[in-house]
Amino acid sequence: MTQKNRVFRFAPSPNGLLHLGHAYSALRNRERALECGGEMLLRMEDIDTARCTPQFERQIVEDLNWLGIKWQGPVRRQSEHFGDYGEALGKLREMALVYPAFLTRAQIRDRVAEAERHGPAWPRDPDGAPLYPGGERALSGKEAAAGMDSGRPFAWRLDIDKACALAGPDITWAETGHDPSGQTGTIAADPRAWGDVILARKDTPTSYHLSVVVDDALQGITDIVRGHDLFHATSVHRLLQNLLALPEPRYHHHALLVDGDGRKLSKSDGDTAVAALRRSGATAKEVIQMCETGARI
Ligand code: GLU
Repeated sequence: MTQKNRVFRFAPSPNGLLHLGHAYSALRNRERALECGGEMLLRMEDIDTARCTPQFERQIVEDLNWLGIKWQGPVRRQSEHFGDYGEALGKLREMALVYPAFLTRAQIRDRVAEAERHGPAWPRDPDGAPLYPGGERALSGKEAAAGMDSGRPFAWRLDIDKACALAGPDITWAETGHDPSGQTGTIAADPRAWGDVILARKDTPTSYHLSVVVDDALQGITDIVRGHDLFHATSVHRLLQNLLALPEPRYHHHALLVDGDGRKLSKSDGDTAVAALRRSGATAKEVIQMCETGARI
């Protein structure tokens, strides 16, 4: 019996320079792909066309080449595939699982503050953002259409209750890494923790959650290796895979490199950028060593 070829991917967002944390993630992907004779693909997650630039993309590719991290096939650039994400959104619209939501960030903040003045703390998602307080789920088709026609900005949100009711209660994923709370093995997804997540906006026909599941399926990704900051997002991804009848990949969430203060490395902290380390005279071997020995959580 032939075993299906395993396919991994490294999926940076070219909205900044590749730092040690990204290099660490690329190395973990490479390591696991090598272990099982699998392939590794490179995807540029550049749906945020205002912040992602071709310059950052070129630099990321150059840095990966310099580090000796190779990938197979052409790079998939999400900004070239908005049609694929629009199609997936269309399916969810046909299933009446998404609705246009009109509250701005400031209005959301005000509503939550108002509710908290009179009652208990408003529920927050795993990233700490308040769950959506708007009431547009209840709008009729006519009212929703009128709102969209009015020219106001809006976001397409998933009706999480309807979506979970349709998908059923038993969504899980197979985890070979872990999150800091030690969860590993078969994980029960908890998409409700995210509330009515945004899947697209009026002017951007997708979001991270939607495009990542569409691409993982279209690229035949069997194994997702990424930082544990995305562990809880996997609940949303598994729900969307279920609703859109997409295959289920295996997941491995790895530790995150931290700075001297124990904080996750960020793109604004230029000192850990691979390009800066290289300019200051570090060799590729030394940079890889820094990734392998750096403090992590
Ligand atoms: N583009 C995401 C990032 O740079 C990674 C997404 C993923 O691996 O699912 O953090």
